[in-house]
Amino acid sequence: MAVERKYITYNQVHKLCQASAVRILEEFKPNLMIAIGGGGYVPARILRSFLKTPGSPNIPIQAIGLSLYEKLVSEDGPEEEPGTKVTRTQWLDFSSLKNTDLIGKNILIVDEVDDTRTTLQYAVQELSKDVEAQAKKLGSTEKTNFYIFVLHNKDKPKRGALPKDMMDEGRYLAAETVGNVWCCYPWEATDIDAHDKLAAGASTKPNGH
Ligand code: 5GP
Repeated sequence: MAVERKYITYNQVHKLCQASAVRILEEFKPNLMIAIGGGGYVPARILRSFLKTPGSPNIPIQAIGLSLYEKLVSEDGPEEEPGTKVTRTQWLDFSSLKNTDLIGKNILIVDEVDDTRTTLQYAVQELSKDVEAQAKKLGSTEKTNFYIFVLHNKDKPKRGALPKDMMDEGRYLAAETVGNVWCCYPWEATDIDAHDKLAAGASTKPNGH
């Protein structure tokens, strides 16, 4: 059976980021964002505008590339089958990060969707290792806090797990919780007008389905 698709517009992404930025500012005050590419790039950039406070510089955005999904050649559409192994395609740029930039800081990890949670688990584990290594080098005991922001969390059993203290302390924010649907983001569309029509059609049907 074909997976149900949820079409999301740029406007909706913008407003989800805007609404979430209020909480992120109140609860976390990030010093650095790490966007998981490619889906985390656009939300991170939008968030940056809403996280900017007068008199302070923009929050820097670093990008990491992680790949889990193998593209399937399918006549039905863009759905992809989950892989189980995460591969790094890009990592932190230490030439532009000072040794101290990660230590004792609040780091906001941004992605578009939390599906099986495998990618987020990998990102937090690997970034924590980098932070530990940097702290050891500097002889620092300052705590670095990670916080996660995603546009959508799929309400389903997860394969990956996030640190207990992160969940207990509410350092995980999904702008919207959805069922086990396939989220179609506007930056993946090859025909944005058709994409927006599908998104509008879905929201005007009775009961919003
Ligand atoms: P996870 O590791 O949580 O299973 O998957 C994370 C990655 O899988 C996302 O960053 C995204 O690239 C891809 N993915 C999972 N579900 C969806 C979806 O519903 N829509 C899109 N566009 N990508 C998805």
